[in-house]
Amino acid sequence: MVLSPTETYVATLFLAVTLSIFGRKMYLRLRYLFAAKGVERRWDHIPTRIKNFVVYGIFQRKVAREWYAGVLHSFIFWAFIILGTSVVEITAQAYAPGWRVPTPTIAGFSLSGPLYLAQEVIAVLAAIGVGMALYRRYVIRPKKLMHEGMRDATIVLFFILGIVTSLLLYNAADIAVGTASLPEWKPISSALAAVPGVVLGATWWRAFWWTHVLLLFSFLAYVPHSKHMHIIFAIVNTFFMDLTPKGTLKKVDLEKTQTFGVDRVEQLSWRQLLDGYACTECGRCTDACPANATGKPLDPMRIITNMRDTLDEQGAAIVRGDVAGLPDMFQTVHSKDGIWACTTCYACVYECPVMNEHVPKIIEMRRHMVLTQGEMPPETMEAMRKIEQNYNPWGIGWDQRARWADGLGVKTLSDALASKDAIDVLYWVGCAASFDDRNQKVAKAFARILQKAGVRFAILGPEEKCTGDPARRLGNEYLAQAMIMGNVETLNRYGVTRIVATCPHCFNTLKNEYPDFGGKYEVVHHSQFLRDLIDAGRLTPTKDVLQFLTYHDPCYLGRYNGLFEEPREVLYRIPGVRVVEMSRAREHGFCCGAGGARMWMEERIGEKVNHRRLSHIEETQANAVATACPYCLIMLDDAAKTKDREDIRRFDIAELLERSL
Ligand code: SF4
Ligand code: SF4
Repeated sequence: MVLSPTETYVATLFLAVTLSIFGRKMYLRLRYLFAAKGVERRWDHIPTRIKNFVVYGIFQRKVAREWYAGVLHSFIFWAFIILGTSVVEITAQAYAPGWRVPTPTIAGFSLSGPLYLAQEVIAVLAAIGVGMALYRRYVIRPKKLMHEGMRDATIVLFFILGIVTSLLLYNAADIAVGTASLPEWKPISSALAAVPGVVLGATWWRAFWWTHVLLLFSFLAYVPHSKHMHIIFAIVNTFFMDLTPKGTLKKVDLEKTQTFGVDRVEQLSWRQLLDGYACTECGRCTDACPANATGKPLDPMRIITNMRDTLDEQGAAIVRGDVAGLPDMFQTVHSKDGIWACTTCYACVYECPVMNEHVPKIIEMRRHMVLTQGEMPPETMEAMRKIEQNYNPWGIGWDQRARWADGLGVKTLSDALASKDAIDVLYWVGCAASFDDRNQKVAKAFARILQKAGVRFAILGPEEKCTGDPARRLGNEYLAQAMIMGNVETLNRYGVTRIVATCPHCFNTLKNEYPDFGGKYEVVHHSQFLRDLIDAGRLTPTKDVLQFLTYHDPCYLGRYNGLFEEPREVLYRIPGVRVVEMSRAREHGFCCGAGGARMWMEERIGEKVNHRRLSHIEETQANAVATACPYCLIMLDDAAKTKDREDIRRFDIAELLERSL
């Protein structure tokens, strides 16, 4: 079959118009992206990036975490890839009738047939995928998808359905008129062509060709104007994903930086802005967010989509360099209350199937509020003042830091060196275990266990300062760096090489952030340390500790540093302990509400996060909860007391282990 010269002329005009609409919008989007001023280097570790691209981009491993969404997305995604060849071949019929996509021949066997078969199968699977997606959106109706993106998503789904249906019908007509290549490899189209009573002649061939081409290129023009540009950008995003340890915030060069943080989208980096184009609006981030779940005005998906829309609206002015008077990010992207509500629990980043990075943007906005605008919740000013004066947010005299260890025979590093004692490991106690009554008991239990196991350890005592974690997460990079530099100087002066920390926040900061400041040590968490001591036979838990308990995953231990099993393994080895899991555990763990320096802020809006977490504990019917973080312990303690559930006992894993020795 051949199109008439007029048809070819009209088709050419249509292709030119739709391709220009597509090209113009893509050009603008890329231009806006590269107007970004923030610096980002993401061209390192190319083999790892290629691997991530294949695993997360091509094979969509994170999308598949939800099986239903994973199945439907893989049908549609692979349709885009495989049907690329049919698009070229069918469009080419306007210019070269009978032209076929060249395919390799292996051992005399042409791959054209299998390619046609694959096109037919994936077209049907894509139609099934569309059906599943429509069923999910309009029948199952998960809350996370019920937003204004529904209309756009529905339009796109019908475009896809129209494209794959018209492809099969075109192929059927092509077979019917006798111009199809290798019809024996097109079983579905052949079956359609053979439906009794249906006669597909030249008119139908033309009608389906036009329908297919009109839908296809209209869709192409539509895509960059909609959230479905993620079809192009999500896969790119996986290549440029962050490869630094998850718990590392970007170091600010205090000498060279003039303005701190961001309040305008162009101050972000191109990679941060790319997140907006990659976002599928799947809502998984918001669905996982503990602040959002408890009624705070924080919506991580909106941070990403509003950033994208702001870039779209202000892009022309940004490119012209004419941004004076334009609304800032606190007006267009997210409210200040929302930004302060974040616990930096990392659930949003963990859940995002396209590797978007919410937490760094939140911290940048906090940095702007604190360091540029001097604006922060009043109680955080108090915490920062205490850190400045006494190197701990409790505000207790710095010289009291080692008081918890009175009478235990625990040495400070300076004493140990003075008496020429060999030291295997430095116990980093942290502010909470040094000053908080409840957590001092944990520090004591841990120290006694170390002594029992014959570990040669010491503490810094009054020379230890806050690691800088709360100040950094609050956005006060100056104060954080002052603490970090002080600690690095002390640790390096003593030649410390190995550190064990009972606090996941200290552990994360020492392990992942101190190297940027010249502090490189082997840092382990006490859950790892205790598990290893048991494995090495240096500790033998023998006494029954009768507890039916659940374990609460601290975010900075689990999601940030992947230590899910180590604390559980300690618990499993304690005789008499039975562990039941909460509905939200391990990677899906729910924050206690203290992270991101929320420990030092009032929780004025919505339900308290720790109360919600207590309800998860209650669901298990356990009579105790164990954790491995002093902040989680404080928050769970507080929730149990204020909700009158003190019958649910709260422990650190070290306390339970000590009872069994
Ligand atoms: S880090 Fe946690 S609290 Fe903050 S936006 Fe993400 S999910 Fe919400
Ligand atoms: S940021 Fe990620 S998780 Fe959140 S809606 Fe977009 S794609 Fe989904």
